[in-house]
Amino acid sequence: MLVPMAELLAAAQREGYAAGAFNTYNLEITRAIVRAAEAQQAPLIVQVGSSALRYAGREALTALVLAEAQRSPVPVAVHLDHSAKLDEIRWCVEQGFTSVMIDGSALPLAENIALTREAVAIARPHGVTVEAELGSIVGEEDRAAEREAVGLTSPAQAEQFVQATAVDALAVAVGNVHGFYKGEPKLDTARLDEIHRRVPVPLVLHGASGLSDAAIQRSIQGGVRKFNVNTELRVALFTALADTLPRIHAHYDVPGLFTPAIAAMQAVVEEKLQLFGSAGKA
Ligand SMILES: [Zn+2]
Repeated sequence: MLVPMAELLAAAQREGYAAGAFNTYNLEITRAIVRAAEAQQAPLIVQVGSSALRYAGREALTALVLAEAQRSPVPVAVHLDHSAKLDEIRWCVEQGFTSVMIDGSALPLAENIALTREAVAIARPHGVTVEAELGSIVGEEDRAAEREAVGLTSPAQAEQFVQATAVDALAVAVGNVHGFYKGEPKLDTARLDEIHRRVPVPLVLHGASGLSDAAIQRSIQGGVRKFNVNTELRVALFTALADTLPRIHAHYDVPGLFTPAIAAMQAVVEEKLQLFGSAGKA
């Protein structure tokens, strides 16, 4: 069933676990994610970014994801990932997304606050959740250019930002990066704890692909209620396709090509849902 993301995060906050948010680009990835949540009886966030909407056609991808969410017996929030455009946010709100992320993190604080307030004004009358970002999560987001490191999230600024914008969830930069980590990830847990102490809303950690189980558990203790996972799903997809293609090439069997890839991605999502503590919480 389709639910507001705030509802899903509030349940996670009450019970001390985190929800998994997984990026989709197409039918196969969407099916893998939703099947995993059903198999694990877990609440779920399916998210799409601007580049996925452009790639798949925004009407088609939106219809697909919303239909899967509505059909599913587990609670599913449909979320727009990293948008800096208010017209895109408005469009997604009108289509029935239950959550949007306004990303003004590249802007100076006052401008980020102003942009985020506008997004809240668009989304809140429709009961749509708003996630914002403060501090810069470096690394590749989809295929966009590497962003400037403007630094980790300041706990004092986070408190001010959440008060000024009334956002529902805050994405923080505490040493997490998008894409692949170079070496062992090192999260600034003291900073995370201080943000959690000052900020009442659920925290979001982008770049959860590649974080150790211990780092995930520690982040949940530090108030993280949503982990974004993208890279690890794509690795599973590409690995399975490369493995399957030489074996079935002569048959041109489309389900035969994609079915093992769906299963491989589903296995990754199921493992994450267990790790985040959301398995069995639907
Ligand atoms: Zn992100």
